[in-house]
Amino acid sequence: MSRRRMVYEGKAKILYEGPEPGTYIQYFKDDATAFNAEKHEIIDGKGVLNNRISEHIMGALNGIGVPTHFIRRVNMREQLIRACEIIPLEVVVRNVAAGSLAKRLGIDEGDALPRPIVEYYYKDDKLGDPMVSEEHILAFNWANQQDLDDMVALALRVNDFLSGLFLGVGIKLVDFKIELGRIWEGDFQRIIIADEISPDSCRLWDVDSGKKFDKDVFRRDLGNLVDAYAEVAKRLGILPESGGAVVAGPKLVKASKKEKGS
Ligand code: UDP
Repeated sequence: MSRRRMVYEGKAKILYEGPEPGTYIQYFKDDATAFNAEKHEIIDGKGVLNNRISEHIMGALNGIGVPTHFIRRVNMREQLIRACEIIPLEVVVRNVAAGSLAKRLGIDEGDALPRPIVEYYYKDDKLGDPMVSEEHILAFNWANQQDLDDMVALALRVNDFLSGLFLGVGIKLVDFKIELGRIWEGDFQRIIIADEISPDSCRLWDVDSGKKFDKDVFRRDLGNLVDAYAEVAKRLGILPESGGAVVAGPKLVKASKKEKGS
């Protein structure tokens, strides 16, 4: 027996070599981090919920022709994904003022923005993911103009689609972050959505009460993170109303004698 090869370990996920060339297995950990990993906790069940929620969202995006790296979920914590060359940028789309935008510009959290706003951050933990402009991106060749046009078009399509998806279940999509990667199809390069889309990377507020169902629950110590993420999963129809079942670990099922022999 040989051990599978780990390709990369991040704060919340691990990448392993996939079963075929050009694929990886993405494993969702229970680690929650904030403020550039200064705050860190293990939260039982978070990885399972993010795996399911990201599967639901990426699968739906694939279904409407927005290309993502997601191929299929393989178990409670893992999904099979297409390998791509990650562009070192985080693309944030905002509909409502919150977090760093509210702080930086002195806008009240919760104020609706006049139009969706797209921002870029350079992925570098040592620098704390600084905000950058198109000028920086082009000058330092992190992406070219065509890549940028594709990235913005994808980000805005994701925003429209997710805003509707969440509004349908009584949740306001305040903002979110996506990461993108390049794949090659013959002579053509294509930009696809990578990483995850989950309550770790979105701000999700209850339409009626304003209650938060996202990572701010952890960042700001607002209560139980798994309950918040499970509420999102329940409303999306991923978890049964009673909840719980998906968060529990897998059960060992013994094959019957008849099956063993066949
Ligand atoms: N975000 C993220 N990873 C990051 C930074 C931000 O997923 O490293 C998400 C965050 O959850 C929110 C949106 O991007 O949905 C905008 O985050 P913001 O710039 O307000 O930063 P924060 O207040 O989270 O530091």
